[in-house]
Amino acid sequence: MATRLRPVSVLFKYLTVCNASKKCTVIGGSGFLGQHMVERLLDKGYSVNVFDIRQGFKNEQVQFFIGDLCSKKDLLPSLQGVNVVFHCASPAPSSDNKELFYKVNYTGTMTVIEACKEVGVQKLVLTSSASVIFEGRDIKHGTEDLPYAKKPIDYYTETKILQEKQRMGHVQEVLKANDPANNFLTVAIRPHGIFGPRDPQLVPILVETAKSGKMKFMIGDGKNLVDFTYVENVVHGHILAGEHLQKDSPLCGKAYHITNDEPIPFWAFLTRILIGLNYDAPKYLIPYWLAYYLAFFLSFLVFILGPLIKIKPTFTPMRVALAGTYHYYSCERAKKDMGYKPVVSLDQAVERTIKSYSHLRRAS
Ligand code: NAD
Repeated sequence: MATRLRPVSVLFKYLTVCNASKKCTVIGGSGFLGQHMVERLLDKGYSVNVFDIRQGFKNEQVQFFIGDLCSKKDLLPSLQGVNVVFHCASPAPSSDNKELFYKVNYTGTMTVIEACKEVGVQKLVLTSSASVIFEGRDIKHGTEDLPYAKKPIDYYTETKILQEKQRMGHVQEVLKANDPANNFLTVAIRPHGIFGPRDPQLVPILVETAKSGKMKFMIGDGKNLVDFTYVENVVHGHILAGEHLQKDSPLCGKAYHITNDEPIPFWAFLTRILIGLNYDAPKYLIPYWLAYYLAFFLSFLVFILGPLIKIKPTFTPMRVALAGTYHYYSCERAKKDMGYKPVVSLDQAVERTIKSYSHLRRAS
């Protein structure tokens, strides 16, 4: 009798292992990228927990855990029985709140690592950013081997570096925490310029700027190539990373650029979105050096006047650099190690994005 039942119990054990390996938690799952991750993971048969400080959507297939990732007590229930954790939570870059970035992105991520280890999560996939190597100067086809920025462009990027980096003497940062001997594997995904339906940032801000009549000038010669990455490609990169992250795989403890692999002139991309939504594209060129020094002068004025009036300039030297420099990244490593290939081309991506924002379209 016992021998006849054996294949069934082996099958049961196999199915249990398979189910466990398809159980995941998306930290930051209520956000723009997070929601797209959740949808795709469900499509692929994963059982999905979402951990976030807010519930961004409703879905009966998803179990929500509302809490702060800086609290291990909050995190632990969401990680029970989970094989892979996708950590894509972060305060919004626009908040410019140094303490908050440090608390959530850096110390909070240490708490995520501790919590994962405590409950036996085997894999942690961190959403990092390609901006960790950007210092305001041209980067063309940059690889992951380029050093971290010595002068990161803002506090957000500074803490994205701290969160990801392998710093000797510190045992907790994500890539350094990769520990196959103890069955805990880590990998970081570095997307750049994520866009797509339901993004609360790029398209809505672009439209607001166009409506207010401030979208008239292009900084530089309009030729600087930049990566804009469709959200579904970013999701695809994360899921591939989670699936290919195995003991002895080359992914362990490494960072991977994930882009659309079709760099496009920064201003051409914005123009396509604007024209697609029936707004005027910027027409006039302003030399890069002029825009940079104007922004520098403005920041200096704000600094001098700081004790008297509080102003938060949006026209900063770093914003000028983001709009006027080349910064596009190689994703050859992701192609080689995990078979990454964008699933949506830039043309399709722009078309789908414009369609999804038809409510923001200017009436003719
Ligand atoms: P988002 O703001 O839409 O989502 C972030 C989510 O994190 C939100 O739902 C928020 O509530 C949650 N969160 C913030 N603090 C938290 C905390 N203390 N505890 C629990 N949850 C918390 O951001 P997004 O654009 O979806 O970005 C996702 C990730 O991708 C981030 O790590 C970001 O750094 C990275 N990234 C984004 C871009 C981009 O262009 N959007 C580019 C490169 C990298």
